[in-house]
Amino acid sequence: MRITVVGKSPSWQDTDGACSGYLVEEGPTAVLLDCGNGVFGKLRRFRDYCTIDAVVISHLHAAHFLDLIPFAYALTYAPRQQPVPVDRWPGTDQPARPQLHAPRGALEVFRTIVGCFGQPELIENAFDLHEYDADETIDIGEMRIRFHDVPHYVETHAVEVSSTNGSGRFTFGADSCPNEELVEFAEGTDLFILEATLPRPERAGPRGHLTPGEAGDHARRAGARRLVITHISDEMDLLWAKAEAEKTYGGPVDVAREGAQYEV
Ligand SMILES: [Zn+2]
Ligand SMILES: [Zn+2]
Repeated sequence: MRITVVGKSPSWQDTDGACSGYLVEEGPTAVLLDCGNGVFGKLRRFRDYCTIDAVVISHLHAAHFLDLIPFAYALTYAPRQQPVPVDRWPGTDQPARPQLHAPRGALEVFRTIVGCFGQPELIENAFDLHEYDADETIDIGEMRIRFHDVPHYVETHAVEVSSTNGSGRFTFGADSCPNEELVEFAEGTDLFILEATLPRPERAGPRGHLTPGEAGDHARRAGARRLVITHISDEMDLLWAKAEAEKTYGGPVDVAREGAQYEV
């Protein structure tokens, strides 16, 4: 199974960057995990969007789903998705319509947002939308997807993708404050991609994110075989973040960068 970092920025994009997006490929199967702002254009560097089998959204924060809008426009209006010949495209009776697995309430959120443009059904028409429950298991081609609720500002799910062919297992922490359940969910994973958003813990209000040191500590306690920290702005000192995470993880840590690929 191959994981490509498509975008890794937090809620505002790095210079030339994209927010949360990870392409997971196993054999012919391709899943896009999160589709934050900037991700759709970046995705096209790595994979034809018409060959994406499913998009899985960890939670309904803009930086994790906003590029469903351009993705939906492409699926709706791209010349090659039309039933009749357009330009050099021959026309098709079977336009791509990827699965879209999103948290409960997603349909209403999507309708509200794209409804502002007068097209409330844009996303549900372009994708085969399914609202998942945290205890569901979803099989997509050669991948099995599991979820686990993690504490964040809205309903949020860590996501595990494992190969049904016996290759590896990959765990994505989504966004969360420190929590023991995430350690248990990720236990023994081959690759842990975990947010390390904060230079220091939040000073006020409820916690919702991790520091690099906390991310390293979670991965060490989970026994993760490899740690990649993500969701870090390019306005942070990435070498400092890496060193902090390595101290608590007890081994080498990668800082996510667009285009980085991992095999598990
Ligand atoms: Zn986020
Ligand atoms: Zn979030």
